[in-house]
Amino acid sequence: MCNNFRVLVLYTDNMNIPYLDLQSINQRFNDDLEDAFQRVLASGRYLQGEENIKFATEFAHYIGVEHCIPVSNGLDALTLILEALKQFYGWRDGDEVIVPAFTFVASVEAVRLAGLKPVFCEVTSEGLLDVNAIPACISSCTRAILPVHLYGTMCEMPALQRIAEAANLLLVEDAAQAHGASYQGRKAGGWGVATAFSFYPGKNLGALGDAGAVVTNHTALAERIRTLANYGSAEKYRHCLPGHNMRMDEIQAAVLRIKLRQLDADNRIRQSIAKRYLAEINHLEVQQLHESVRTQSVYHIFPIFVDKRETWQSYLQDKGIQTLIHYPLAVHEQDSFRDYKHLEFPMAERLAHSCLSLPLHPLLKEEEVTYIVETINNYPR
Ligand SMILES: *Cc1c(COP(=O)(O)O)cnc(C)c1O
Repeated sequence: MCNNFRVLVLYTDNMNIPYLDLQSINQRFNDDLEDAFQRVLASGRYLQGEENIKFATEFAHYIGVEHCIPVSNGLDALTLILEALKQFYGWRDGDEVIVPAFTFVASVEAVRLAGLKPVFCEVTSEGLLDVNAIPACISSCTRAILPVHLYGTMCEMPALQRIAEAANLLLVEDAAQAHGASYQGRKAGGWGVATAFSFYPGKNLGALGDAGAVVTNHTALAERIRTLANYGSAEKYRHCLPGHNMRMDEIQAAVLRIKLRQLDADNRIRQSIAKRYLAEINHLEVQQLHESVRTQSVYHIFPIFVDKRETWQSYLQDKGIQTLIHYPLAVHEQDSFRDYKHLEFPMAERLAHSCLSLPLHPLLKEEEVTYIVETINNYPR
């Protein structure tokens, strides 16, 4: 059976599989999107209108929280949360927030933009905050922990909650890669004092441009964030706080309302593809993340981990399979964080230097998955 497959692949023309096919993913919604464009166009209201209000209600309900504030993007969502918490609880400039050393740079940039100090923490072999490494990161200036649900898999939230509670710290979730992911049935966004989402086009729930959201059960914090995102104004031309312009466009809210209805079905397809990769990829040089029974990953990204990554990437490229790298450096290795370059986080660095993301999206076909698996398993040893 296995051998037959090999022969079959040898005689099949190379497939051409892009990492992501955003055109096709979005064209599924063509008719509804056309209606939405017309509706928003005709409304004459392009900011802070009905679509924003409805999306906020629908997304809060989806996550299972009280409040959702639609904003301009994921970085701004995180920055607004931290800035609001800082004002609310009287944190000082330079107070500390614990962040994973391996994440997209935005998670850490937001801490800096809010005038706080990122304190890097080692990650597990899954790329998630290492609960055991956190105590050593806590100082008298620590105010919050910022778990990132990287690749769509949730961090150890119950353990993080226990640590945060014992040390009187707040949890702020970065769920930019985890729309719909859950831990023991409770969704990402339902654990921390507030959570940031990104709707960057390539995310599991993606807009047609930049967009993001904050979700929280904290009513006063929600009000403050809403105000900060709107020039520090809760009432037109009255400005009670120094603020930003970090609002979501009506057109993006309208797009997201349509795509939200498809999110769970899309996530289920991602999960079934991931299941196949996990079960069928068996090359000895390839390491994969484990499938956890406690957390229901939504597989925003499916990385494999290989030494000699460049060789693997060009081998797959030659076979018509496009891969990407999320992310080639740990955050403390980036030039923009050169003050932290002397630090060492062996696991974060190892993951960054060996990760390779396979195509995984709701329109990937069964035969494409088969081809990717077979091509990987046939990599010359
Ligand atoms: C995408 C992403 C962000 C930032 O979102 P933008 O909308 O691009 O600003 C933040 N954190 C993580 C983990 C992300 O993947």
